[in-house]
Amino acid sequence: MNRENLQQWIRRNFVPVIAGTALALILFLGIRFTVNLLNRPAPAPAKPAHEKPEDPDAIHYLVVHHSVSEWGSGAAVVEWHTGPPPHRNWDLPGYHAVIGNGYPTKESWKKRVYDSGADGRVDRIVSESLRVNGVRFGNKNALQVCLIGDLDRRDPTEKQMAALTNLLTHWCIKYGLDPRTAILGHGEMQEHIGLEGYSKTCPGERVDMDALRAAVLSQVIRRLLPRGMEQ
Ligand SMILES: [Zn+2]
Repeated sequence: MNRENLQQWIRRNFVPVIAGTALALILFLGIRFTVNLLNRPAPAPAKPAHEKPEDPDAIHYLVVHHSVSEWGSGAAVVEWHTGPPPHRNWDLPGYHAVIGNGYPTKESWKKRVYDSGADGRVDRIVSESLRVNGVRFGNKNALQVCLIGDLDRRDPTEKQMAALTNLLTHWCIKYGLDPRTAILGHGEMQEHIGLEGYSKTCPGERVDMDALRAAVLSQVIRRLLPRGMEQ
């Protein structure tokens, strides 16, 4: 075979093969590209502007405690929780609010000098925008309120329960919470979380949590009804 014949032979046999292969490759890549395009997941639809993402710090629970002391106030709790040892030395007190029982100081309790202005007085001691150390494993989405008193042994005062009902009503409306599911005693919250093997009686056996939830619910409804519809 001379050179010219060889070139002719190559042209006849190889050129169509190479051209065919190139064409097949282009077809193959084209099909693959199209299939990939079709299989790609549809982009998520944009969220409407009014729909904000869920706030991880949103308030879901309102937790009720007692101080297990005969006397106290917001100032006393601040000292007990944030004071240097033998106090707890925390950065912040464990409650957002404290509701007094009429005996704000040790002295007043010792002498039994009842202060009606300090009975049912709500002391706000921590900003609601901060989370505090009220319930182990359960502080992230909760506000905490503490009644002064040892309420396993004594009843809370009427003024304390009225002030507590008002505060919880205010918080339920402010944060859009259902009193029946948002309000929990410390021990109930512990059970709800389910990470501890024992259950506290906090806020005390003398506090009827079901009655409290019902009282707050009826106040919330009354306050949300349009004017003139209240009974
Ligand atoms: Zn407690």
